[in-house]
Amino acid sequence: MEETRTSIGLKCEIVTPEGLIYDGRAEMVVVPGEMGELGVLPRHAPLVSRTVVGEARVREIDGKGWNHLAVGSGYVKMQFDRLLLLVNTAEQATDIDTARAQAALERAEQHLARSGEPDVDMHRAEQSRQRAANRLKVAGKA
Ligand code: ATP
Repeated sequence: MEETRTSIGLKCEIVTPEGLIYDGRAEMVVVPGEMGELGVLPRHAPLVSRTVVGEARVREIDGKGWNHLAVGSGYVKMQFDRLLLLVNTAEQATDIDTARAQAALERAEQHLARSGEPDVDMHRAEQSRQRAANRLKVAGKA
């Protein structure tokens, strides 16, 4: 029974406004849920849930370990052995430009250090800081 379950797998699609970033069959997918990591196996119950900035991991069928992606916030939908992760941004760990992420992190921290000044959008700076820090973390897993 377990063998059938993993050999069929689930179809995993990661989509951003720029298009389809990832498309493959997986044994398991882990996405960053609002309440922590959410692991999804084939035949998971139907589900729609919000996701947060974090790491998505895909264990491909016949693959060699996990595929790591940095993802922005969005939604996950699971239905009929098909997982759709619809997010603002997504990059495979190997595609992350760490110098760019480091520069974005420093910019965001400079904005956050100016807390209280009228022209600083703290929410935007905090979101940017989270995206950049996440990219640096996930890039290290490439
Ligand atoms: P930056 O200020 O460097 O643009 P950002 O957090 O504002 O960073 P986003 O708005 O989250 O950037 O993303 C814009 C686009 O650039 C998306 O397609 C995203 O995948 C890509 N992107 C952003 N940062 C990186 C990075 N460090 N490496 C690879 N792609 C990136």
